[in-house]
Amino acid sequence: MRDNNLDWAHLSFGYIPTDYNVRCTFKDGKWGEIEVSQSETINMHIAATALHYGQEIFEGLKAFRGADGKVRIFRLEENAKRIVESAKGVMMEPVPVELFKKMVVEAVKLNSRFIPPYGSGASLYIRPIELGMSAQIGVNPSTEYVFMVLVTPVGPYFKEGFKPTNICIMREYDRVAPKGTGRWKVGGNYAASLDAGVKAHDLGYSAVLYLDPREKKYVDECGPANFFAIKDGKYITPASESILPSVTNNSIMQLARDMGIAVEERHIPLEELSQIQEAGACGTAAVASPVAEIHDLDNGTKYIVSKDGQPGEITTKLYNRLRAIQLGEEPDTHGWNTIVEGI
Ligand SMILES: *Cc1c(COP(=O)(O)O)cnc(C)c1O
Repeated sequence: MRDNNLDWAHLSFGYIPTDYNVRCTFKDGKWGEIEVSQSETINMHIAATALHYGQEIFEGLKAFRGADGKVRIFRLEENAKRIVESAKGVMMEPVPVELFKKMVVEAVKLNSRFIPPYGSGASLYIRPIELGMSAQIGVNPSTEYVFMVLVTPVGPYFKEGFKPTNICIMREYDRVAPKGTGRWKVGGNYAASLDAGVKAHDLGYSAVLYLDPREKKYVDECGPANFFAIKDGKYITPASESILPSVTNNSIMQLARDMGIAVEERHIPLEELSQIQEAGACGTAAVASPVAEIHDLDNGTKYIVSKDGQPGEITTKLYNRLRAIQLGEEPDTHGWNTIVEGI
């Protein structure tokens, strides 16, 4: 048995082996039986399309042990639907929503001893992944696919607490093309963002704030997360053909509306950053990470978002509300949680 005697409150956002993963293969035009595996490796053809032509898509979601001891998976259905869109985007076989949900629940159940306890700030990160498996040297979609779900416990994203960080703008990089793969959760998008991301980290920034790849006029994706800002009491977030529709952003927008905050999904011209009172990056890993300053490295402009270095009031409220729903501390009025019975 693998070690689950972990220092829950101090886990990083890394990979810790768990007991099982679940797998399913699409072959001869149909999905097979769900297999439970204890192996951390896969056996694949050296000419598989995932390796040569980037037929690889994934998801990321979390399970939490709640205040009442129950285990909740946050927005399972939304992630199931999104991977279908990603599959269509790069001509892979879509995983049926019901199969996706069943496999995620099974992976969580099988590894329940790795779900961090309530109060630790940690959670069980769930990583569904699909790969094109058949041998092709000509550029063609695969006819065989494998879909797998692995899980790993992860710590609170903010090692130093919920504190704003600085992000930067660098025009010499785009992570995706207009009408390209940015709308889908494709591994290649991450490869395309590594060079800029590592450069930004080396310069002390937590992420790159990309501009729209068509005109470089509007704010786009914030590294591997969606960008949002608070301007005159409104929640604004980019409408763009090149960003991934974040489930977290979608949830925060709903919570904002619930609180009576107006939500605008629209183009955000770069210059508007001088008029915002709060900003943040949102995604499953961190929920919302507040932004202190945005530095435009090409012209030296500095947008000082947080004057006192503290997270903004509305950002903090939204963050706390979402966390409380995930942890079962507040009512789940939108039915976002899937409670996993029997663990
Ligand atoms: C996964 C991801 C996000 C965040 O999406 P969530 O569903 O909120 O986790 C945002 N942008 C990119 C590029 C991503 O890959």
